[in-house]
Amino acid sequence: METHMSKNRGEIYRALASIVGSSNVSDSSAVNITYGFDASPTPPSQPDFVVLPRDVLQIKHILELANRHRLPVTTLSGGVNVAGNAIPTQGGIVLDLKWMNKILEVNTDAAYVLIEPGVTYDELTAELAKKEFRCQIPTSPGGSSPLAQQLLNPSGSLVNRHQDSIIGLEVVLPNGEIIRTGSAAFSSSGFYLRYGPYPDLTGLFCCSYGTLGVITKASIRIYPVNEDIKLLVAAFDSFSSSVDFVKEVCRRNIAEHTIIWNRQLYKTYEIKSSADNRLEIPPVLYEDPRKSNPDIPYNVVTIHMSGFKEDMETHEKVIDKVATGCKGKLLKKDEREKLLLPAIKSWEKFYLQYHIPTMDQVKKYGLGRYVPWIVIGEPKDIVKIEKESIESMNELGLRPICYYSMPFDYGRAIFFRIFSYIDPRERETMGKVRELYLNMFDSAMRKYGVNPYRHRWGQSKLYQTGGYQLLLRSIKNLIDPNNIMNPGIGVF
Ligand SMILES: Cc1cc2nc3c(=O)[nH]c(=O)nc-3n(C[C@H](O)[C@H](O)[C@H](O)COP(=O)(O)OP(=O)(O)OC[C@H]3O[C@@H](n4cnc5c(N)ncnc54)[C@H](O)[C@@H]3O)c2cc1C
Repeated sequence: METHMSKNRGEIYRALASIVGSSNVSDSSAVNITYGFDASPTPPSQPDFVVLPRDVLQIKHILELANRHRLPVTTLSGGVNVAGNAIPTQGGIVLDLKWMNKILEVNTDAAYVLIEPGVTYDELTAELAKKEFRCQIPTSPGGSSPLAQQLLNPSGSLVNRHQDSIIGLEVVLPNGEIIRTGSAAFSSSGFYLRYGPYPDLTGLFCCSYGTLGVITKASIRIYPVNEDIKLLVAAFDSFSSSVDFVKEVCRRNIAEHTIIWNRQLYKTYEIKSSADNRLEIPPVLYEDPRKSNPDIPYNVVTIHMSGFKEDMETHEKVIDKVATGCKGKLLKKDEREKLLLPAIKSWEKFYLQYHIPTMDQVKKYGLGRYVPWIVIGEPKDIVKIEKESIESMNELGLRPICYYSMPFDYGRAIFFRIFSYIDPRERETMGKVRELYLNMFDSAMRKYGVNPYRHRWGQSKLYQTGGYQLLLRSIKNLIDPNNIMNPGIGVF
């Protein structure tokens, strides 16, 4: 992108400072470099300016300025995306929304909460708990943004029983115009209804990764905390049995959330990290992930559900029956503790207190746990993909190889994520891994028709989407003709 940056750097800095105040804008490399990378294999790139606005009008003025100077703008809410999507690959402005952190409305009547981008899961969960409500289970750390996470619909969001957790949005478009979607499009209405006037424009901004505008408010669905909350665990000796099980449980609407963990993953909870940030990995994780081990199950499935006590007792019996029917076994309390400590403690925190993960886990993730290859496909194909992807990763000598998978869209599809322990500081290995992942996408798309997940290193595949991407690019061109918003993401 041709920008006016080189000759106008000082002028742009002063203009930004006049909008947000000089203590809320940085052009210092020492600060800005921290915004230039994440744990993914995406090459680092630092922004020219980091700006921390406090309200929607400041954002409007920043976008107008950015448009005048054709400066790229990358928006951050929680800033813990681990898929390369928030790296300012073309420099420009990073808009960090952490100061916009108000819970604007907790509406227990219409069961929604209206939040700003900088609100964290921990803050929201604590506030909702006071009113005996909760939001959907997060699959990201307590410091991440529910607005950003639910907007992106990454792994966990879609397995919650209630989909489309975002209802309505306030968005600053790239030209500075402010719009609202859903019922709130009418200035006299609140944010209570997703499918308001005609086409669903909330959906246009979901999964848009900051390419179509800056989201400044979102209303998200909330649910009363139920009388009884349960975390069950079932064990299986093959991946295909656990896939059959989650399909059944989901389609029959028995549980709210299920995840399949392979043993290389559930045993990772035993990993220790040393003071110099190296990992101490238990030997069991170096076993060949394709071979079963008689002492521990090949996969376990966590099952989360809540409701009235009577309901939960019946549901537990049904889960037991379905697990047995799928050649599995619901684990009793003592079996769980014997097999799954310390994983079970962490899962209890996650499911029963809606909080993940501990700082220690975050540190491990940062050390490379999140360099994943992810696809979404039909259940029968995912079983073949599990086998082939383990083989491909084995060939590159990547061990231990962990994965989790979970049903999407009520079990019509399965989300499959596989990864290894790669230190993000080892750029050469990261390069090889990126190459491998691209080849794995090619193969899985050709043979099994999977969708690659929305990670930066799989996005070139989106150019294969024909009329879909053409329409999307026309829409983008209409609202962001200078392509300032997060350029380089997806087909933009
Ligand atoms: C330890 C760890 C574990 C995780 N585990 C999981 C997991 O199991 N499953 C999972 O799905 N995810 C997981 N995540 C990552 C999760 O994907 C992020 O939480 C999610 O991307 C939202 O992150 P965020 O709030 O930090 O958003 P950011 O990093 O701030 O932004 C994410 C993307 O959305 C865009 N964006 C953000 N805010 C706005 C806005 N207001 N307007 C417009 N665009 C915006 C950004 O430009 C970027 O492209 C994990 C992350 C960590 C660090």
